[in-house]
Amino acid sequence: MSVSVAVVGAGPAGFFAIDALLRGQPAVRVDLIERLPSPYGLARDGVAPDHQGTKAITRQFERILMNGARVRFLGHVELGRDVTLEELRELYDAVVIAIGAPIDRRLGIPGEDLPGVYGSGAFVGWYNGHPDHSALAPLLDGPHVAVIGHGNVAIDVARVLAKTPAEMAAGDLPCHAAQAIAAAPLRLVHLIGRRGPAEARFTSAELAELGTLARAHPRVDAADLPAKSDALPAGAPKFARKNLDILRGFAAAPADKPVSIAFRFHARPIAILGTERVEAIRLEPEMAGGGREVVELPVSTVITAIGYRCRPLTGLPFSDATGVIANTDGRIDAGLYAVGWAKRGPSGTIPTNRADAMAVVDRLLAERGAIGPAGKPGGAALDRLLAERRVRVVSFADWQRINAAEVARAAPGHPREKFVRVDDMLAVLSS
Ligand SMILES: Cc1cc2nc3c(=O)[nH]c(=O)nc-3n(C[C@H](O)[C@H](O)[C@H](O)COP(=O)(O)OP(=O)(O)OC[C@H]3O[C@@H](n4cnc5c(N)ncnc54)[C@H](O)[C@@H]3O)c2cc1C
Repeated sequence: MSVSVAVVGAGPAGFFAIDALLRGQPAVRVDLIERLPSPYGLARDGVAPDHQGTKAITRQFERILMNGARVRFLGHVELGRDVTLEELRELYDAVVIAIGAPIDRRLGIPGEDLPGVYGSGAFVGWYNGHPDHSALAPLLDGPHVAVIGHGNVAIDVARVLAKTPAEMAAGDLPCHAAQAIAAAPLRLVHLIGRRGPAEARFTSAELAELGTLARAHPRVDAADLPAKSDALPAGAPKFARKNLDILRGFAAAPADKPVSIAFRFHARPIAILGTERVEAIRLEPEMAGGGREVVELPVSTVITAIGYRCRPLTGLPFSDATGVIANTDGRIDAGLYAVGWAKRGPSGTIPTNRADAMAVVDRLLAERGAIGPAGKPGGAALDRLLAERRVRVVSFADWQRINAAEVARAAPGHPREKFVRVDDMLAVLSS
């Protein structure tokens, strides 16, 4: 008898969990439930549009969906809206929650709600055509922008704003964002982080790429950098030495391009200033005895890239302190598991989710006894329920049609022009 598993969330973690299930349990049948008509999660809507090499992982995920006898894609079906967790647990032998962590963490400072301040989840979603954020219309009408955070997402945001249309030409930046970014009068991006250069979390390849841009140069104050012989601070990432070498190179390079990307270390935002909208950001020095003063930088846009939290859902225990679904090594309850960012928060790269999902699936399979005998009704019963509720389920074949339509309408050289509204994706299916 086959074992039925519902995986909720078609991002990298969901796909890696399915891959592990298919390898580990020959008789498993998986339904992949995803709230958007499109699969792939942040691999489609988070990874930067100019990093198509990274997005190519979606081809690997697509091959998993081609295994139609054992895996079904049920797109445009949202846990909590179209089906409850209780129902899924009734219908499937096990449920794996892979819903990511889409909510931007807040700075918790005055002025954070002024027009012109955006979390990177919303801002990146906007320039990646995520249906939740494609109507954001961010204010990009001033020459100075602050990006808060010293991780790869902050670098992505600075780079996508600073690149020329020609540099973005081979990517899938949607038209609405391409036009807005090209029209922005950008001159200076402040990249602001609380910690020092040796503790910054950006990886070396992403950092080095900032030194290769056509119209923008990175700007680093050499006085902010430790001497080569200095010991690294505790907690420095393993790539810190390489990052410091890259930053030293930036500090020595000429500042000869029209746009600057200026690194500000040991700086803590304490207020965003403005009356009708953002006008400035106030920073205080984070270093004890650093001797620096509070500064106010005039900026007309602020983008925070300081992490994400999971969205709480009825029936799922939530850890408010960590912002993830409460779990022990991926186990939430008998027959109920979490993987990916929903399990451990926003850390690591796409491949990190592979090892993580494999370990959770190993546990799920080992605990098969605890989840009861196989034989719950599975997918056929869910289909009936969704039909009764008149949910327009998007199958893998449907997604392939939407995908083909996106590719067909791309401008020459671009891989696709995304549909950025759910209705537009569904309209492809009724044409
Ligand atoms: C801006 C950004 C850029 C990144 N760039 C890179 C990069 O260049 N390289 C790299 O290796 N990593 C990158 N990452 C990290 C990588 O994207 C994550 O490690 C990975 O996507 C996490 O996978 P996940 O499946 O846990 O979550 P997600 O990718 O967020 O997938 C969650 C899925 O669940 C769905 N979902 C949510 N709620 C529900 C619900 N109630 N019902 C049904 N479905 C639901 C969502 O629509 C989504 O499809 C980036 C992350 C961000 C935020």
